[in-house]
Amino acid sequence: MAEKHAISALSSSCYRCSSDSGDQAKFTKCCLCNRWAHTKCVNLVGIKSENICNVRYLCDVCFTEVSALKKFINDIEEFKSDLKSITAKTDKMMEIVDNKMARMEEISIKVDEATEGLTGH
Ligand SMILES: [Zn+2]
Ligand SMILES: [Zn+2]
Repeated sequence: MAEKHAISALSSSCYRCSSDSGDQAKFTKCCLCNRWAHTKCVNLVGIKSENICNVRYLCDVCFTEVSALKKFINDIEEFKSDLKSITAKTDKMMEIVDNKMARMEEISIKVDEATEGLTGH
């Protein structure tokens, strides 16, 4: 009677083989999707709790998803740092352009003055 209660407390069967046979020790739960599975049916991947809060084990499905998400976030971070260096280069370039433009303005004013002096007299 007590044993039967323990097995029904699993609340779910293995999501892989759809069987609920086996004792509780042979089952494990994915902390992300809360699915139960036989440890022998899934490649449960132990991951560090600091990577995802309070998660100790992920099923293969969740692990794939989390890995893909992490890779995506890494790519975004890389893109962001690339963008930062491009922005820095653009700023530098704009500064040079501004300096050249100012110099060009100076020259054109001098040319105007010189031309005015010539035609004025
Ligand atoms: Zn199973
Ligand atoms: Zn899962």
